Amino acid sequence: MAMASAAGRIGRSRAGAAAAALSRGFKVERLDMFDVVNPATGKVIGELLIESKDEVVSKFEALAAGQKKWRSVPLVERRAMLERFNELLRLNMPVLAKTLSTEMGKPIAQAKNEVRATVDRVRFYLENYEKVLKESCVLETSILKEKVVYEPLGVVANISAWNYPYFVSTNVFAAALLTGNAVLYKPSEHATLTGMEITNLLYEAGVPKNVFAMTTGKGETGAAVASLKGLGGLFFTGSNKTGLEIAKQAAPNLVKLQLELGGKDPVYVRADVADVGAAAASIADGAFYNCGQSCCSVERIYVDKRIYNEFLSAFIKNVMAFKVGDPLKPDTYIGPVARQPHLPYLAAQVQDAISKGARASSHTHLESNQGGFYFPPTVLSDVNHTMDVMKEESFGPLIGIQAVENDAEALALMNDTTYGLTASVYCKHNQDAENILRELDVGTGYWNCCDRVSPRLPWSGRRGSGLGVTLGMDGLRSFVKPKGIVFQSPSNKD
Ligand code: NAD
Repeated sequence: MAMASAAGRIGRSRAGAAAAALSRGFKVERLDMFDVVNPATGKVIGELLIESKDEVVSKFEALAAGQKKWRSVPLVERRAMLERFNELLRLNMPVLAKTLSTEMGKPIAQAKNEVRATVDRVRFYLENYEKVLKESCVLETSILKEKVVYEPLGVVANISAWNYPYFVSTNVFAAALLTGNAVLYKPSEHATLTGMEITNLLYEAGVPKNVFAMTTGKGETGAAVASLKGLGGLFFTGSNKTGLEIAKQAAPNLVKLQLELGGKDPVYVRADVADVGAAAASIADGAFYNCGQSCCSVERIYVDKRIYNEFLSAFIKNVMAFKVGDPLKPDTYIGPVARQPHLPYLAAQVQDAISKGARASSHTHLESNQGGFYFPPTVLSDVNHTMDVMKEESFGPLIGIQAVENDAEALALMNDTTYGLTASVYCKHNQDAENILRELDVGTGYWNCCDRVSPRLPWSGRRGSGLGVTLGMDGLRSFVKPKGIVFQSPSNKD
């Protein structure tokens, strides 16, 4: 496929929008456009349409009609389209990765990793979706039969985040389409060019336009989607704050709601860890990969006081060795943060910690900054839970490290936030790790690893980290609803 850059295919031009506005009597440019900004330079690289509530409703109505036919399309045909989509992802990976890197600052090597790993996620769904559609007979006697059949939800909406735009969208649309749903997709305003590329590839793979549709815009467009009447399901990925708003918007319609929200994911390094240096390297990667902008990034570290100094110096050494710079360079490990307004938020967390006694070690080797949104990767040591950095999601290249006395203190601190996404333990024996992980109120636990998502495992957050499940067999089941059917033999009716 000859795939032009998505930036060349952006909705209406600003000039066209302004002309349309003038024709309606406005004296200024229309406000229904938003800028796409390259975080590595701060420059505007495109303009996109903010779709109105009416446009959202009309897309939804077309999907509702399309879904009625789609649910009866033979499984083998739906499978062929998603297989083709996967092939297109693979073939177009370099172009797709470049768009992603340019619009949200993800280092190019990591952008390629994301596209590659998306192929694996879709493959998991392809291999397993038929299992969740299979009806089951739960009772069969001479007079009575009871069975359960599984039906698609209908039109599902996917309002999503920008940090892993391929993951957070395919988690929903691949499972949803395969199980007979139609999808209204609202990508983040910080990853809409990628959203457009995903949409184009799905169409090229044969998915009909009245089965998958994208709407562009910011929060208002998201709100228009979340408050649609008649949605079969609403799948949201984003911040805790927006998640709570979405829950209110969807509540009057009693829509099935899933929320994949933020985290404050802890790691505990026990004194018996096999190799302190290897643990420090692994955890530094878990904290700073994707510029710390992963929902399951390591956000706080607790280290047994007997190995604290050794761990801290190994950790800082790793962080100072990271290459910070232009995300399009193949060896860049840390790029800019995606959103300029996040810079003062991160600076405030650092200042708050320092004012309460923390020590900061910051990376200062940025190659050159052409006006990009760079934040120096920073390690805060001697931190405690009076500091924001240990309680509130940072979502950037920033980490706090605290010494602990023992397992009991580590456990208490790990549970001491409102979030519950993932947690890790680095230690010698897996049983010790499992004993601790089972005491934590989180959706995923790791031993001697962190910051990873498996397509085979259920992905879920607890408490402030969300509601519901994607991925794994449990995640596939999120896209179907069970119906119980009872057959009573006519002769035994009374
Ligand atoms: P965000 O909440 O700012 O935006 C997410 C989406 O919601 C965007 O599409 C946005 O346009 C839309 N939106 C914003 N305001 C809205 C409103 N009032 N009503 C309806 N829609 C609205 O989040 P973000 O900055 O895009 O993403 C970062 C957050 O997402 C982090 O907290 C991160 O941890 C979380 N996240 C979680 C997971 C997970 O699997 N749990 C995965 C990725 C990201």
